[in-house]
Amino acid sequence: MRILVVEDEPKVARFLERGLRQQAYAVDVAGDGEEGLQLAGDHDYDLIVLDVMLPGRDGFAVLRGLREMQRVTRVLMLTARDSVGDRVRGLDLGADDYLVKPFDLDEFLARVRALLRRAATEAPLVVRHADLELDPRTRRVRRGGKAIELTAKPFAILDLLLRRAGQVVSRAELAEHVWDRYFDPFSNVIDVTMHQLREKVDRGFSPRLIHTVRGVGYVLRSETGED
Ligand code: CA
Repeated sequence: MRILVVEDEPKVARFLERGLRQQAYAVDVAGDGEEGLQLAGDHDYDLIVLDVMLPGRDGFAVLRGLREMQRVTRVLMLTARDSVGDRVRGLDLGADDYLVKPFDLDEFLARVRALLRRAATEAPLVVRHADLELDPRTRRVRRGGKAIELTAKPFAILDLLLRRAGQVVSRAELAEHVWDRYFDPFSNVIDVTMHQLREKVDRGFSPRLIHTVRGVGYVLRSETGED
């Protein structure tokens, strides 16, 4: 289990780090929000302990950044202010729990254990259809037991199609989920990316899984249909 602590007060950071290490967790410490976000982007943490009051980007801004990165990591917020507004704001932004400073190390460790347990039971499972499987945590895709390498966009499209297997996913939905707000609806980027995805997922395999529904979008299914 690897935990990231984002805390600018060195004394508190050391206290938490030591407590967590004694429980045999791997711990990284970031002294500000910027560094915290960078580490969170580079590593797959099981839990992030996030102080609200940070210089520069505060805890709320970091939470927003984590969401933008679509990190599923659990977040335990630390707040010095026991204000309902702060707690609500943190939870609204996707924090999983919060602890008001000052707190007791045992309580902190108990919250950490509870969050890690929850993370383990709620972890998104491998999505499968026919002989195709995708693991959102390791970002591994296999078909017929053979590993398939996908770049970010084709991976995101396949993830969406697999989760909605049997249902048509419109081009507008693909644009919204997979591209950002600067997506140009007049470009052929969806067609190009779908072509790349099909080359990897369907070429050399049977049956074909990705089908075009003309004028609407795409559907992932094992039976043959309009295409
Ligand atoms: Ca602080």
